[in-house]
Amino acid sequence: MAHQQIGWKMEHTYTGLPGIFFTQTNPTPVQDPALILFNDVLAKELGLNGEMLKEEGAQIFAGNQLVDEFYPIAQAYAGHQFGNFTMLGDGRAILLGEQKTPSGERVDIQLKGAGKTPYSRGGDGRAGVGPMLREYIISEAMHGLGIPTSRALAVTSTGEPIIRETMLDGAIVTRVASSHLRVGTFQYAAAYGTEDDIRALADYAIHRHDLDLVASENKYMEFLKRVIDRQASLIAKWQLVGFIHGVMNTDNMTISGETIDYGPCAFMNTFDPRTVFSSIDIQGRYAFANQPNIGGWNIARFAESLLPLFHEDEDRAVELAQEAISHFGPTYYEYWLMGMREKLGLMRKEDGDAKLIDDLLTLMEDHQADYTTTFIDLTFDSNSGTSLERSSAFSEWQTRWKKRLETEERSAEQIFAHMKSVNPAIIPRNDLVEEALKAAVDHQDFSLVIRLNELLQDPYAHTKAQAKYMRRDLPSGPYQTFCGT
Ligand code: AMP
Ligand code: MG
Repeated sequence: MAHQQIGWKMEHTYTGLPGIFFTQTNPTPVQDPALILFNDVLAKELGLNGEMLKEEGAQIFAGNQLVDEFYPIAQAYAGHQFGNFTMLGDGRAILLGEQKTPSGERVDIQLKGAGKTPYSRGGDGRAGVGPMLREYIISEAMHGLGIPTSRALAVTSTGEPIIRETMLDGAIVTRVASSHLRVGTFQYAAAYGTEDDIRALADYAIHRHDLDLVASENKYMEFLKRVIDRQASLIAKWQLVGFIHGVMNTDNMTISGETIDYGPCAFMNTFDPRTVFSSIDIQGRYAFANQPNIGGWNIARFAESLLPLFHEDEDRAVELAQEAISHFGPTYYEYWLMGMREKLGLMRKEDGDAKLIDDLLTLMEDHQADYTTTFIDLTFDSNSGTSLERSSAFSEWQTRWKKRLETEERSAEQIFAHMKSVNPAIIPRNDLVEEALKAAVDHQDFSLVIRLNELLQDPYAHTKAQAKYMRRDLPSGPYQTFCGT
């Protein structure tokens, strides 16, 4: 298969960084690769020939066939995992290169689960079919929800078993991201590199994500502010749809502001701010309500690693960094409040809005109401007889809300149309995802995964098919997922 026909337009700018940031590493070939899921729409956006890849792409996406355009590397990084600093690096992800898309963007194309790398630390470099399909479903669902995220181009089974608690079938996900630069990449530079290495990395990141800052006076401080803004906006979007990342370690927080690394993540059912999904998160560090705080904590680690670039005087550099970091919380809150107003059809800002929103959330928590469906009922002005909706406190709240809506300049029709465009009809709930994964893993029946993926592509369409997947009474826990699989 001629790679010109497939449409590879790869560059390898990352290899222009100092040598400490990566190691050339080929994927380890696998026995019997088969393409089990392929994202036609994304292939097209990337300028790739989906038809050809669907026919013959398994060898490529398994890492068995390396075309001339690829220059596979494993990226080095460090990270705070549950608060402890560790040297990491891609232990099972290999970057094939940066594809230049027809719209002029540059995106990383990476194989996750493609074999050991110098950073594998005793791991096997592999991944299971279930977790890789899960990453595909949830990352594509996030994209459908309008939330910045890495994407999934393909899932390829390897035909080889892997050993976890039990034997699993191995698989590789082809991950696409605007870059894989993380907070942990900067921590790595600060801990193991020189000031020149930190500067080279920051210049690279600015070039890649914030080109307009190249000529600014204190471009590194401006760059920090951009990362703060992107992460504050991203985490607000998570909170607004009830997404719990599960492992917000600094190596899983991107510079681009995209969600990355779908391990023990999940969506909340009944509204409970303490919801935790990761089996190893015993203290609830990454609980739903704690995500904004952890975002701020991670940002502080990012700023620390850039300190020498802010000012030659260390005290002054710390002062500048602290000033910038202090904006993370308020910026997050502004984004969240704006999003919540929209979910309730409020376009104007009024002082009492925050209280109105808080009161609703408190009622939802008291009555263990489903987060997503409560907003759907408000959007369609319907009452499905839940404990929340039967309560007099909720009726009183609704009266207040409707009064507030009357102060809006837009018509009721316009308001509800807008609410439809921000309150999803469907999210990848645990039970739906698990059911689809079980059919795929136990019976090689991928039809449920494909169907679910279709329904999640436009969650704001509010189709009849989506309504069938409405859930009202599922508790958020106990539900556990496991990382490192
Ligand atoms: P994660 O929890 O997925 O962010 O992974 C943390 C680190 O462990 C990353 O550097 C991964 O590349 C690495 N890692 C996870 N699973 C494996 C594995 N099976 N083999 C080698 N490295 C792994
Ligand atoms: Mg990770």
